[in-house]
Amino acid sequence: MNVPLILTDFLDRAVRLYGEKTAVIDHDEGRRLTYNELDGRVNRLSHGLRSLGVQKGDRVAYLAPNTLEMLEGFYGIYQTGAVMVPLNIRLKPEDYLFILNHSESKVLFADQDLLHLIEPVKDQFETVERIIVHYHDGETEETSYDDWLAQFPEEPFNRAEVEEDDVASLLYTSGTTGNPKGVMLTHRNNYLHAMSLMHHLRVYDTDTYLHVLPMFHVNGWGAPFYYTANGATHVCLRKARPETIYDAINSHGVTSVHMAPTVLNSLLQYYDSEKPQTGTADLRIVIAGSAPPPAFIRRVEDELGWEFIQVYGMTESSPLSLTSSSRSTEAHLPAEQRTRLKAKAGYPMVGNDVRVVNDFGEEVPHDGKSIGEVVVRSHGVMKGYWKNEEATAEALRNGWLHTGDMGTIDEFGHIDITDRKKDIIISGGENISSIEVEGALYEHPDIVEAAVIAVPHEKWGETPHAYVVLREGTGLSEQDVIDFSRSKLAHFKAVTGVTFVDELPKTASGKIQKVHLRNDYWESHK
Ligand code: ATP
Ligand code: MG
Repeated sequence: MNVPLILTDFLDRAVRLYGEKTAVIDHDEGRRLTYNELDGRVNRLSHGLRSLGVQKGDRVAYLAPNTLEMLEGFYGIYQTGAVMVPLNIRLKPEDYLFILNHSESKVLFADQDLLHLIEPVKDQFETVERIIVHYHDGETEETSYDDWLAQFPEEPFNRAEVEEDDVASLLYTSGTTGNPKGVMLTHRNNYLHAMSLMHHLRVYDTDTYLHVLPMFHVNGWGAPFYYTANGATHVCLRKARPETIYDAINSHGVTSVHMAPTVLNSLLQYYDSEKPQTGTADLRIVIAGSAPPPAFIRRVEDELGWEFIQVYGMTESSPLSLTSSSRSTEAHLPAEQRTRLKAKAGYPMVGNDVRVVNDFGEEVPHDGKSIGEVVVRSHGVMKGYWKNEEATAEALRNGWLHTGDMGTIDEFGHIDITDRKKDIIISGGENISSIEVEGALYEHPDIVEAAVIAVPHEKWGETPHAYVVLREGTGLSEQDVIDFSRSKLAHFKAVTGVTFVDELPKTASGKIQKVHLRNDYWESHK
């Protein structure tokens, strides 16, 4: 008999096998719950949602940093058959208004610290009937999430009949390139994606996973599934500051952590300045997507002694399709060669067919240098964009997800992401990958952050221009940076100009928003 793949299975398994084990630790508030206790609260939440009239298919939005409440929110919402809509915590009030109305969310859970973000627009919510706030400093007169939850029983909840192709999650994309789009992921999408990550990340009940990546973002989305299913312990962290990350790793024996390269960068900077000595001995893997520069990978593996795993994906594919962790044979390669391989996105994960195709949809030669668009066919690929048929038809063609990312594939099937289609610099007819140029700049010890964009050039059409953040107390000149890039790269790829800044604009998941840099460049070169 076919058993539908429903996400609540994961919590069921943990409760059955690991009921008395610690399920979650809230690092900021020092609270912890066993899987049995978590299950009880999840049931209360589902009963509470039903009392508010939430039915299968309704949307329930969540606005919170990484907290214990948000973790229980996943399962409490799924038990009712409702769709979870996580909200990025770094948006502007108008964005919340757009997403809540666009998703037609019925209930909104919000963390006290973020209330000010919705306050200015909440009168204009068209469908939200109830906002439930988690007040955590105990100084309010209002009913808090916990008081509300306490009214409902812990008894098992009579779950909605859910099919595996029903939408479980409605996630809005990062908005790195433009307006966020609502990605519909089904129970089956999230379930099978979690299954293949259990394999590639080698997840066990001995694991303690630190939620540094925001759970509201798709990269942090899978962890509540695959670590729960295996009875691992979740550690929630409200803010991804280097000192708190170190503290959490040391206090709870964290074994694995996943973060954006920008956060990893801040951790490495902190390591340099503070030289934290206390043992991070339990930590075995550090996972990062979004093209971490080779210099970071080398430092993580050689200096800090943690295994580095690179992953590639996008919201539209649940999100991950490629990982560098597929070939154990690579562990035996010389360090330098291994770093070079890990700096490429990786191999298709189990259950993913990933190809690199030209404009006619034909596969490019497997030679490691012919560039084409990366396309994905997998169990993780979305049902479509919510209420946006045009964008769906553009992204899903003949059963393939067109990622908008360009890459190469070598004879072993190893795929390298060269750049986003929109970020490639076309100079004198040659394609230059902004990622490659950034990787070269990161080799300089005084460059803390770098982002490269295309700028117009009379002779070459476009050339690379770098936005650079320097290490405090150092003083490179524009010419120094240009010369350094020429020493590391073919001359046509070297940067032709540099803007020094104190920080780079980033999305909540830590991605550099080049769209803002382009605007800045245009503003200052009018
Ligand atoms: P939007 O679609 O709203 O502009 P976004 O594409 O940044 O935002 P996400 O789905 O969060 O939203 O990010 C997916 C993108 O991140 C990929 O399409 C790719 O460009 C980039 N990315 C992810 N992992 C990697 C990686 N390992 N190497 C290079 N690029 C990566
Ligand atoms: Mg995208």
